[in-house]
Amino acid sequence: MKRSVYRLKKRQRKTPSGNHSQIRKNKKPTPATCALCRQRLNAVLNHSRALIRKTAATARRPQRVFGGVLCANCTRHVVKTKTRLAHGADEKAVPLTLLKYVRMLK
Ligand SMILES: [Zn+2]
Repeated sequence: MKRSVYRLKKRQRKTPSGNHSQIRKNKKPTPATCALCRQRLNAVLNHSRALIRKTAATARRPQRVFGGVLCANCTRHVVKTKTRLAHGADEKAVPLTLLKYVRMLK
């Protein structure tokens, strides 16, 4: 048996003939979370890879900046900070975790 199969959850099953057998349950995919605050992301699909490939690319995640990476609140903070820096605010006051995404913005 494959090594990856051993990690799957075991479940008892009663067969139609009355015997008991063990079946292995597939793991559910973990939901996408925000890279900054670890909150679960809305409007991001939580299906298997095969199902995600079948859906349209625009339906897989929000089509805004950092869609599928940051939540709406964190995106708002990043855009606000970027605007403040563009108008002369000090870069040293920005938290390092936020600065990475601020620099990604164009
Ligand atoms: Zn967030």
